[in-house]
Amino acid sequence: MRRPIIGGNWKMHTDRSSAQLLARGVADAACDGCDVVVFPPFPWISDVAGVLEGENVAVGAQDLWHEADGAFTGEVSASMLLDAGASWVLVGHSERRHVIGEGDDLVADKAAAAQAAGLNVVLCVGETLEQREAGSTLDVVLGQVSAGTEGLTPDRLVIAYEPVWAIGTSRRAEPADAQEVHAAIRETVSGQHDADSASALRIQYGGSMTGSNAAAILSCPDVDGGLVGGASLDVNEFAAIINAASEQTRAPRVNS
Ligand code: PEP
Repeated sequence: MRRPIIGGNWKMHTDRSSAQLLARGVADAACDGCDVVVFPPFPWISDVAGVLEGENVAVGAQDLWHEADGAFTGEVSASMLLDAGASWVLVGHSERRHVIGEGDDLVADKAAAAQAAGLNVVLCVGETLEQREAGSTLDVVLGQVSAGTEGLTPDRLVIAYEPVWAIGTSRRAEPADAQEVHAAIRETVSGQHDADSASALRIQYGGSMTGSNAAAILSCPDVDGGLVGGASLDVNEFAAIINAASEQTRAPRVNS
């Protein structure tokens, strides 16, 4: 059985003291039933890592640059993140792809550099509404998965399927639709790597997950956790999602 993993992407929210307070609340909400990672803004990573030292919650960064060092004004390398206390990093988040304009090649370079330096990677993939309506969801998502995972080790990788139209919109994917995409991602990784790695791979769903809708989607057989934006800023909502994920380690999966 895959252990669920819940991520809290704080995006460009919080200040130093509210980030520390939120981290304390997440530490109190964490339990044995699932892995929890929070992704604060860069400037608070060390502070949050300090609060979470010895706790059951890991710290990640929301992005990185793929070069080890050099003249890259404004960018942050994998080793800097490790030094600051991060052990995880998001790559290819939809806001990086669609607001900043990152493409598959850059995302792949970032993911490979992160793993090579010793970070665990959450590779984010997902289709836009236009792509879904045009019937190209699987082509888009599986293309992003193939491009992003080519140089990666599957055992320090989590994939987050986040339909772009569901992020921050209160419009989450139907569990059956998410399940279809998650199963196809697993199949693709099996073809690219091997069946054992694919069956051990954790695939998170992301997009308007809340305390009240989490259980339905987390009970799908190929959904192994969630990447949570808005609801991760509210400790009670986030705790409810953590609890829903922990329940999955106790309850048999739907259709499994
Ligand atoms: C995200 O930022 O990855 C995300 C899923 O956001 P939200 O939960 O707010 O839709």
